[in-house]
Amino acid sequence: MSKAEKIEKRGKDKMPTTEAEWRRKLSPEQYHVTREHGTERAFSHSYYNNKRDGMYHCVCCGAPLFSSETKFDSGTGWPSFSSAGGAVTTHEDTSYGMRRIEVRCANCDAHLGHVFPDGPGPSGMRYCINGCALDFDAGDESGKTKA
Ligand SMILES: [Zn+2]
Repeated sequence: MSKAEKIEKRGKDKMPTTEAEWRRKLSPEQYHVTREHGTERAFSHSYYNNKRDGMYHCVCCGAPLFSSETKFDSGTGWPSFSSAGGAVTTHEDTSYGMRRIEVRCANCDAHLGHVFPDGPGPSGMRYCINGCALDFDAGDESGKTKA
């Protein structure tokens, strides 16, 4: 995606452009994870155990990112997916003395989690994603409660 397209998209969605605006839009934990590359505590967010059908969207910009069809129980305490259902980008992350591949939302650059090459599916990938970076939409399930 070109820079111009990105800016146009941001304008349409009225995306926050400053850190102060992000802080207003997001909860402190959501802000820490998505804007400061934080990691939520394992098993701290209910999405790791969410088995309902639906789509997981970016909590920052609403872009669809992961489908329940690729979700699996990794036992790690974080929502895990065998593939990305939407646009994500990957970046090398060498923080904490580890070599990991960081996963970000392609639309707004929110930090989502990491991807590891030890998944169970045909792709062999395991997207280990922070639950608080996601917004689950069960689609036809009315009366859903937001976590
Ligand atoms: Zn996003």
